[in-house]
Amino acid sequence: MMDTVNTEVVVVGGGVVGVAVARQFAMRGAQVILIEKESSLGSCTSARNSGVIHAGLYYTEYSLKEKLCLVGKELLYQYCADKDIPHSAIGKWIVSAPGQESRLEEIYQRALSNDVPISRLSAAEMRREAAELACSAALESTSTGIVDVQQLVHSLSLDFEEAGGLVHCRARATSLAVDGRKAILTIEDGTTIVADLAINAAGLNALELLPDPMSPDLENYYLKGSYFSYSGGVPFRRLVYPLPAAGGLGIHLTFDLSGAATFGPNTEPVGAPEFSVAESDVHAFVNAIVHYWPNCDPSKLSPAYSGVRPQIIGRDGVVNDFIFWGKEIDPKFPVLSLLGIDSPGLTCCLAIADQVFELAQ
Ligand SMILES: Cc1cc2nc3c(=O)[nH]c(=O)nc-3n(C[C@H](O)[C@H](O)[C@H](O)COP(=O)(O)OP(=O)(O)OC[C@H]3O[C@@H](n4cnc5c(N)ncnc54)[C@H](O)[C@@H]3O)c2cc1C
Repeated sequence: MMDTVNTEVVVVGGGVVGVAVARQFAMRGAQVILIEKESSLGSCTSARNSGVIHAGLYYTEYSLKEKLCLVGKELLYQYCADKDIPHSAIGKWIVSAPGQESRLEEIYQRALSNDVPISRLSAAEMRREAAELACSAALESTSTGIVDVQQLVHSLSLDFEEAGGLVHCRARATSLAVDGRKAILTIEDGTTIVADLAINAAGLNALELLPDPMSPDLENYYLKGSYFSYSGGVPFRRLVYPLPAAGGLGIHLTFDLSGAATFGPNTEPVGAPEFSVAESDVHAFVNAIVHYWPNCDPSKLSPAYSGVRPQIIGRDGVVNDFIFWGKEIDPKFPVLSLLGIDSPGLTCCLAIADQVFELAQ
């Protein structure tokens, strides 16, 4: 049977960003429906990342990524503390190889100008901190952390439902159209949702749902990143990052909250999202890791998981920022699409929710 449902706000996409946005509107008193195509929330890109709370060291000056990462990091630490969500301000070292020191210095200066806590460590100081870490110099960021993303999504969704929000999983949106001041969302089962405002937070699928005829000149650029787990101990107490590489932050060492070590992600453009991990990539991983950890034992690396960055290409190439499309062009437009919500989207989720709420007023 085909139903029509009316609501104030509908959010498409139950990743960490969609849930945070839906929660924000519901907690401010709006009637909100959250639509997710999978059987559970937070199972797409939000479950396939490094789980790192970024300090805000890398992003283009005045970009949304920079602004929302600096604010989002604080909001996220506070939220995790308030709700007892497993997290740790474990900190990270960014290490340079000989000849890369000027790039390390740029990150240091950037951190200083953004008031992000940062310290320089010489190679000798670093040897005292971590004897097995090879580098010519390093930076130490103490406000970088890790978070249990599944518990974060679960907590945000509980807040949402407690505020009266409705979650519909296994509901794929097939089209999002505009009729005057209303957004019209069609679900695969034939249900139509008519809303004053639709937030398109469909991650890797967000571009497909842009309402015609106002679609901007943008294309998807899917960048896959694979991870390898490391069995056995790793002799480092902080996350370890090389200098950023094209398309990502370089193959780095992260830990989950149980202390298990993972290396990744690499960067591999793919025509469509797919989540296999090629065992043969282990060679490239070892080559990257031994630059900073020569004692890495290749036999302890095993394929773990992969994620796909929802990057966007515009007229001038890859857009290196979040795009909030719709309301900024026409304040009355009833659809707001969140595009290119790549890293540090997890760190920024609560700040994005605040910003989206402001844009919608
Ligand atoms: C390899 C990698 C590493 C990363 N590492 C970090 C990190 O360490 N720290 C950090 O801050 N960020 C990181 N990120 C970025 C972060 O993971 C994302 O920015 C964040 O998860 C985006 O959340 P989202 O809700 O926008 O997207 P998603 O989690 O992808 O959620 C979108 C949801 O929409 C649903 N959906 C799609 N189409 C439809 C439809 N038609 N109908 C209904 N539902 C639909 C999907 O099923 C999905 O659940 C990383 C990303 C990648 C790929």
